[in-house]
Amino acid sequence: MSFALLNPNVMDQRNFHPESLMMTHGYKPELSEGAIKCPIFQTSTFVFKSAEEGKSFFQVAYGKREKEPNEELGLIYSRLNNPDLQILEERLCLWDQAEECAVFESGMSAISTVMLEFLRPGDVLLYSKPVYGGTDHFINKVLPQYGINGIGFTSSQSLEEITEMVKSKGAEDKVKMVFVETPANPTNTLFDLEVCRMVADQHSRNEDKVIVCVDNTYMGPLWQHPLAHGADLVVYSATKYIGGHSDLIAGAVLGNVSLMKRVRTLRTFLGNMTGPWTGWLLMRSLETLKVRMTKQAENAEKVAGFLQNHPKVEKVYYLGNLMPGDPQYAVFKKQMTSAGAMLSFDIVGGEKEAFSFLNNLKLIKLAVSLGSTESLVEHPATMTHSDVSEEDRNLLGISEKLVRISIGVEHYSDIIWDIEQALAIDI
Ligand SMILES: *Cc1c(COP(=O)(O)O)cnc(C)c1O
Repeated sequence: MSFALLNPNVMDQRNFHPESLMMTHGYKPELSEGAIKCPIFQTSTFVFKSAEEGKSFFQVAYGKREKEPNEELGLIYSRLNNPDLQILEERLCLWDQAEECAVFESGMSAISTVMLEFLRPGDVLLYSKPVYGGTDHFINKVLPQYGINGIGFTSSQSLEEITEMVKSKGAEDKVKMVFVETPANPTNTLFDLEVCRMVADQHSRNEDKVIVCVDNTYMGPLWQHPLAHGADLVVYSATKYIGGHSDLIAGAVLGNVSLMKRVRTLRTFLGNMTGPWTGWLLMRSLETLKVRMTKQAENAEKVAGFLQNHPKVEKVYYLGNLMPGDPQYAVFKKQMTSAGAMLSFDIVGGEKEAFSFLNNLKLIKLAVSLGSTESLVEHPATMTHSDVSEEDRNLLGISEKLVRISIGVEHYSDIIWDIEQALAIDI
């Protein structure tokens, strides 16, 4: 047994954990003067060794011939490919066990590119409510101008109720994509991805498969892997946990080879890939992704515990508080490996009390965005979700007393101290 472990061939076969591969995977030092780290390939174009090589690279890039076994796409031009992007994409694939990844200049460009690629005039997009404000705007204000309409569903609707709603709108033959954001921001409401898959399959016609696309920004890529629960595509705002330092904007899409070929091709012609510098920063971020997110989740549990018993707090929205017997608990257990580091709470009072709390914090910063090393706090009803209709805000529990916190990597006792002193101030 011990002999087998020492056998180098056996050692070669170990499936390393993603966090063990974030520093080295996909990078060959010998191609960069032995540099331990992948340099920033700050270049627009790449020199071909010969005209024949240039021709051969283009044949693959433009789909005129298939890649030979083990052939890598030659470097041509940074809108098509660049080492910082390619290596980053290979590393991102490891967390979600995806076949392919494409990185984008923002989460919104990742999301809008997927929608533009897989939807055509006359099609209907089914989407979970609430979705990120930018996504909501794209679905309800931009896509209708191209003849594409969205129908929203909430987590309280069953498979039958969703199907019935689609039918009553005469859309049963028009659904081409189910777009899901779970947990839903800012209340941490969960959607069952298995149910979303069933909705998609019910509306699929032979070859015309309805695509399930999941925005996994809130939980990923560490705590939830939608591809393993029936999703076809996963999208990220890499601005959040993946970037993790509030210093860049980026996005990513992951999925199988055939779907990603379409996503990548549209990216090439929209030209909304990320630049090499951002790609390099994201590779640096990925090295600490697991330690950052693990610490953030540990801190969140402590903060949630503190808020739970505070007299000025009416209700805490934290996944770790779900109880067995609650249908949401079953979805949580099935889909996630952690309660995450995003929590919200209803403060006793209304906007005035919420604003006083926000204005009196000393350590935690008042800013939108999430998933970064520093804790961030905001007021969804007047900030991130102010564009959501009042009817939907009431339906989804986004009230004036709701405050959202993204927990960072600070010492948990300092975060709690700050919350405690800001809550203590009477107005
Ligand atoms: C921030 C965010 C987006 C948009 O990403 P950008 O990088 O800001 O374009 C999309 N979805 C969710 C859930 C987000 O939090």
